[in-house]
Amino acid sequence: MKQPITLYTQISNLLTTIGNPVRVQILLAIGTGEACVCHLESLLELRQAYISQQLMILRKQKIINSRREGKYVYYQLLNPEIVGIIQKAGEIAGVQDDTLAIQNPSNCKCPKCKMEENITSRNSSDRGKE
Ligand SMILES: [Zn+2]
Repeated sequence: MKQPITLYTQISNLLTTIGNPVRVQILLAIGTGEACVCHLESLLELRQAYISQQLMILRKQKIINSRREGKYVYYQLLNPEIVGIIQKAGEIAGVQDDTLAIQNPSNCKCPKCKMEENITSRNSSDRGKE
């Protein structure tokens, strides 16, 4: 019996949604921990409006979710396995795994980066006392 086309459409919809360079980058970034739009903005060096648009597409397909904390909205993966699919696709496409590692942007002022910055500077001042 022929499978109903909706079955293939479901798979196709998911692949189409993640099959965009900017969205791939967003998903890899969120895969290492939730992020706000301003974080993605400094990471990807793209306009906030454009990033928001991509986040909306990902959320509509139920790939990511968001939560509000104060004036910041944080985005996270609904299903972390999506990162595995992207890494696998990268592997097949011949991309070196370590080149996909996402580094935090140094110029970001989001609460998450500020927190990490504080931890780093505290550690280095501790080291200074020794
Ligand atoms: Zn940040």
